[in-house]
Amino acid sequence: MSRVYNFSAGPAVLPESVLKEAAEEMLDYRGTGMSVMEMSHRSKAFDDIIKEAEKDIRELMGIPDNYKVLFLQGGASLMFSMVPLNLKKNGVADYIITGQWAKKAYKEAGRFIKANAVASSEDKTFTYIPDCSDLPISEDADYVYICENNTIYGTKYKTLPNTKGKTLVADVSSCFLSEPIDVSKYGIVYGGVQKNVGPAGVVIAIIREDLIPEEDLEGVPTMLQFKTQADAGSLYNTPPCYGIYICGKVFKWLKAQGGLEAIKKKNEEKAKILYDFLDQSELFKGTVVKEDRSLMNVPFVTGDKDLDAKFVAEAKEAGLENLKGHRTVGGMRASIYNAMPKEGVEKLVEFMKEFEAKNK
Ligand code: PMP
Repeated sequence: MSRVYNFSAGPAVLPESVLKEAAEEMLDYRGTGMSVMEMSHRSKAFDDIIKEAEKDIRELMGIPDNYKVLFLQGGASLMFSMVPLNLKKNGVADYIITGQWAKKAYKEAGRFIKANAVASSEDKTFTYIPDCSDLPISEDADYVYICENNTIYGTKYKTLPNTKGKTLVADVSSCFLSEPIDVSKYGIVYGGVQKNVGPAGVVIAIIREDLIPEEDLEGVPTMLQFKTQADAGSLYNTPPCYGIYICGKVFKWLKAQGGLEAIKKKNEEKAKILYDFLDQSELFKGTVVKEDRSLMNVPFVTGDKDLDAKFVAEAKEAGLENLKGHRTVGGMRASIYNAMPKEGVEKLVEFMKEFEAKNK
């Protein structure tokens, strides 16, 4: 067996120890005589799994008691609809457009409410985060929406926007659990887990309780109401059991790494290796303004499409996989999530150096 260094943007690399543990428990989960895939979501064994997972993520992120943690389905994309449908009071919300995912969320919200784009970095192909210190926030905005880490473009908010007292909603799919955050600054923090936390199929939504409507929302499908999921402890219907089980293991792995402060340090170290190289390279260039660089997704180009393609192909042969940039951007992108070991980034930089020497 040989594993590659997998730089995929998601689904993405998971900690090897988690995969091994899951493999060991595949046929007989802790004396139950069955796999977690085969057991009832109403069983004692699964109840323990989901409760423990919630306890661990609460501990890791320091989630205040007045926030619910929901394990949902439908991808981060379904939250693009669930957020406006559940938070709609005045029927107005402000969106900051920093990439494709923020734009998709904004467009989807427009199907249900009046969504305003109050800032955008599209003028420079989303290579920076706009100044959000004094935005024209709508007086009657139900919330202000951001995508905190932009997976495709490789930018990240270093300070949260000034929402002028309005509820902040953040999609943290691609920076989930990569560093500590102050949950109390947000109304909702949510993310698809398939980048930093687990397998595709689970979305974790951390929602301040007062934002969960108390009444049934007329015309909103039962499954899309936060209340349905909150009242049922994420077990209104069959949840993505196996995915939640793996997320639980990743939470334990993160705790064993020393928690989010420690993982942030490691992520900074890893990203520095790559960015330092890019900053002095005569062939490769990072595409994002320095202040707004993501620790998780690092896009870069040579400036020559054919050379980019050659790089991606040769890197694959060297065991460095999934370095092709997003189809809408081109070039390369290295996603270096929590589970990417430092050696993976070192190998990548070594390979880039060799490639540069041969192709200057
Ligand atoms: N938000 C962000 C920041 C993403 O990176 C992605 C997917 N790559 C999505 C939303 C969409 O996620 P999903 O495919 O789970 O709907």
